Amino acid sequence: MDTKAVKAHVERSEPEWRATLSPEQFRVLREHGTEPRGASPLNQEKRNGTFACGGCGQPLFDSNAKYESGSGWPSFWASREGSVETSTDRSYGMTRVEVHCSACHGHLGHVFPDGPAPTGMRYCMNGAALAFAPGGEPRSQAEDTEGTSGSR
Ligand SMILES: [Zn+2]
Repeated sequence: MDTKAVKAHVERSEPEWRATLSPEQFRVLREHGTEPRGASPLNQEKRNGTFACGGCGQPLFDSNAKYESGSGWPSFWASREGSVETSTDRSYGMTRVEVHCSACHGHLGHVFPDGPAPTGMRYCMNGAALAFAPGGEPRSQAEDTEGTSGSR
């Protein structure tokens, strides 16, 4: 049975993508580029929240699936169900599993079978292809912002 849900596909022309993405985002998402190791500030991102597609905004990864792989790229052991698709990538004389957004087909990175439990998968993502939205912060210090700040 076909389990593929009908998705809101995001289709844009190349000029439209160029207009909405930064050059680095365009290079990664639309041209299957790879950012330099350690380049993304999302490597250090430890807050709770959601990592969405930098192209179309579809939520792809939850912060609780993020872990420190030491690879120099943001790494996750699971994606949100149905949010990513894979294809076989035989470039550079290697056979790897390429990962892209299921909605806009933007290239995100690769997935390798050497991740931690419970999935054993390592989604090795380009930070440039992701947009982090903090949310569900742990309730500790950030509690005492006394209501209205900045509205006068
Ligand atoms: Zn997308």
